[in-house]
Amino acid sequence: MRTAKAAKPAKKPAAPATKTVDSPEERLRSLIHRHLVSTLARHEGSASSHDWWVATALAVRDTIHERMIATQAVHNDQNARRIYYFSLEYLMGRLFGNNLLATGMLDCARSALESLGQDFEKIREAEVDMGLGNGGLGRLAACFLDSLATLDYPALGYGIYYEFGLFRQQFVNGNQVEHPDNWMRFGNPWEVVRPEYAQVVRFFGRVENVFDDRGNYRPRWVDTKTILGVPHDIPTAGYGTKTVNLLRLWASKSTEDFDLAAFNRGGYFEAVREQTSGETVSKVLYPNDKTENGKELRLMQQYFFVACSLRDIIRRHLRNPANSWANFADQVAVQLNDTHPAIAVVELTRILVDEEDMSFEAAWEIVGRTFAYTNHTLLPEALEKWSVGLFEKVLPRHLQLIYEINRRLLDAVEVKWPGDNDKKRVCSVIEENGGKQVRMANLAVAGSHTVNGVAALHTALLKQDLFPEFDALYPGKFQNKTNGITPRRWLLKCNPRLSDLITQRLGHENWVRDLDLLRGLEKSADDHAFQKEFMAVKRANKVELAAIIKAECGIEVSPDALFDVQIKRLHEYKRQHLNLLHILALYRRLLQNPGLDIVPRVFVFGAKAAPGYDLAKNIIRAINVIGARINGDSRIGGKLKVAFLPNYRVSLAEKIIPAADLSEQISTAGKEASGTGNMKLSLNGALTIGTLDGANVEIGEEVGGDNIFIFGLTVDEVAALWAKGYNPWDKYNADEELRAIIDWLGSEYFTPGEPGAFGALHHSLMGGGDPYLLLADFRSYSDAQARVDAAYRNPKHWAKLAILNTARMGKFSSDRTIREYAEQIWKIKPVAVR
Ligand SMILES: *Cc1c(COP(=O)(O)O)cnc(C)c1O
Repeated sequence: MRTAKAAKPAKKPAAPATKTVDSPEERLRSLIHRHLVSTLARHEGSASSHDWWVATALAVRDTIHERMIATQAVHNDQNARRIYYFSLEYLMGRLFGNNLLATGMLDCARSALESLGQDFEKIREAEVDMGLGNGGLGRLAACFLDSLATLDYPALGYGIYYEFGLFRQQFVNGNQVEHPDNWMRFGNPWEVVRPEYAQVVRFFGRVENVFDDRGNYRPRWVDTKTILGVPHDIPTAGYGTKTVNLLRLWASKSTEDFDLAAFNRGGYFEAVREQTSGETVSKVLYPNDKTENGKELRLMQQYFFVACSLRDIIRRHLRNPANSWANFADQVAVQLNDTHPAIAVVELTRILVDEEDMSFEAAWEIVGRTFAYTNHTLLPEALEKWSVGLFEKVLPRHLQLIYEINRRLLDAVEVKWPGDNDKKRVCSVIEENGGKQVRMANLAVAGSHTVNGVAALHTALLKQDLFPEFDALYPGKFQNKTNGITPRRWLLKCNPRLSDLITQRLGHENWVRDLDLLRGLEKSADDHAFQKEFMAVKRANKVELAAIIKAECGIEVSPDALFDVQIKRLHEYKRQHLNLLHILALYRRLLQNPGLDIVPRVFVFGAKAAPGYDLAKNIIRAINVIGARINGDSRIGGKLKVAFLPNYRVSLAEKIIPAADLSEQISTAGKEASGTGNMKLSLNGALTIGTLDGANVEIGEEVGGDNIFIFGLTVDEVAALWAKGYNPWDKYNADEELRAIIDWLGSEYFTPGEPGAFGALHHSLMGGGDPYLLLADFRSYSDAQARVDAAYRNPKHWAKLAILNTARMGKFSSDRTIREYAEQIWKIKPVAVR
């Protein structure tokens, strides 16, 4: 039961002499055909790729739905303790391939469609990514859903059904231009709408201070505005198991379809306007990664989905006669993905106190046994705060309860540190300097039984630097759960060539559900024949990526060059501009010495900048403009190419990652909480050049120090440098090459007639004080790149390192991560579905 279901069914047995029943392929073919005709009302002759995709998705969905119903029935029958994952973002990407693999229907669907005269790959491409997230945090949630189902854990994901996901990115003259991502314009075959489980959510209004006949304070939240939350369920299918959990996403609607009075006055548009305001709440994902922005609508989004989800959990819990409030926390575990859903702590308190008539103490006890919180970042600009004024306006009763929660928290601080007002100031949920603000992280810590960081280093810094007082106040509350990625999407699906090679070499496919089994490849790392096959797979993947680069960017690249890849959100702390400084250095060395013997490289970038993040956009422009100059410079003999692929997203990541030789993980030490892109790339045989930051530290421990290119200041060295005083001009003055490339960047060399085009970037490095220490790390980075160059010249050596990277990535399966959460935080057990 626990062995992996084959990624593809075993080779078809020879056809029996007399066929009495249809083959699975024939059955699927007629099912696809039936959906095309009866569901989509399409004639075969006029059906588009999109139509074929929808028809096939619906055919696969039939099986998925049967499993989903069976799964829910088993979970309900057993009254299983469940984990409810609360996340404002889910970066799911495409679901087609995942669902085909989960149902074992991939090969069958391919041949069915081909026998219908269709191009399978083209049909796959018709699916628009479900891009309801910004980056790593949302993608982590998606990987977790995959592992939860694969490991048979009873789980439900809750979030928002954004009408518009993360913007589509285009480059115009090297500049990022954003377009709305109207992803559900043509419908979504994976969704099941459940209007019968809609929830009413209240906002605004005021609190009436009422006392009951025994003198107890019985506040009433009145004069509220209401909107409706309608659940849209997306099945999440496990691999090699029948478990199908669900992702329940809430779409907001107006409570009244029409204001009839306005309608009768002939005011049609006035009547519909009320409706628009209801629907606005789930309209669009905020496109900021790691920057909170204090906007009213964002607070409304957070409360909207949390309120709907808690109501839904309570409804599901209490509908079983065996359940009551007494066993609520025994049955329900809620994980808060960052502070975005932290208002849940207050909302559950409010429901229990105001609606269920519990004492605050009793309510708070249930709350504290229900929630756990994952911290994703130490960056101060990412720690969510809401002005007290905004809270008062949008959620006045919740603000009262926050003050009550805080009063008790500060009492506990007083017991621990009598008379110490500094301790109270840092622990308080209310920040008092300047305008008063509600600190959501402090609220989440106070209301959760467990708080976790996402990599060993990050958790250590969380305890040491961000929350040392809470760590002392609540010993044992903080834990580490190093992030992971699902091997189903990030190897099996995205890299079929490598998957086949691994399966062939290991003699089984069990690695798909037990990634530690990749260790079995270690003994082949020195085997020349295997090295050849491994690198042939890499080359074939590079040929495919080269075609995509040609089609998307119009740039010719050689698959024999080293593919040097940096794909992630554009952020100063991730230091795409450090990569750019190295590109400039190589370019300059070549111009000064055209015969210089360097390994030809293709620099591949993929990154979206938050629309309001001007410096990030300036970095994008600089990479594009300088890249174009380099790509067109015949003097350097094609040794350097720069390809910035537009619109980085999950489906594009799946094409880039299998083709990467080198993985750039070069954040300033202490800034990247974990990273997961680093894991995806290493799993696919890319070597890492990186700082000792986030999960890079643990990747280095797993693959071994000889198999990774580590450079740069450590966290302690960064702290020491700031303590001593850092001046980028000292680095500039001491390094002739660095000085030349910084001056080059500041000149109009790359933008004739437009001096200062990269002024924002130049200023951040020099006048702005270089907050991310690029100049401090440049020489160390450049030296590490020289080691990469030397290693790549020896194909056998490189192949060995690449194989060892793949072989030693077992730890970074999200299955391992989820098992740790399940056993150490959620205390849930797998439930088998037959
Ligand atoms: C994995 C992933 C990320 C996270 O990448 P990091 O390098 O860890 O920041 C962001 N976006 C997409 C589309 C991803 O697939």
